[in-house]
Amino acid sequence: MNDLEITPKVLLEVIRCWECGRWWALEKGIAGTCPSCAERKIKAANGRADAAERSARASRGAATRARQR
Ligand SMILES: [Zn+2]
Repeated sequence: MNDLEITPKVLLEVIRCWECGRWWALEKGIAGTCPSCAERKIKAANGRADAAERSARASRGAATRARQR
């Protein structure tokens, strides 16, 4: 049995994030967002989703209480 070992040659483009100032790299020719800022944005979006869920639950509860009266 012969093993085949392939070492890919990947050309990376180093990019400076203008939001947080970090240097990060991505394959050349592909657009992306700084991973650190992307994670921050995902956390913020999840926080907003949780708040919306809480507020929806609260208004459903208020509607139920209003109907019971
Ligand atoms: Zn960033």
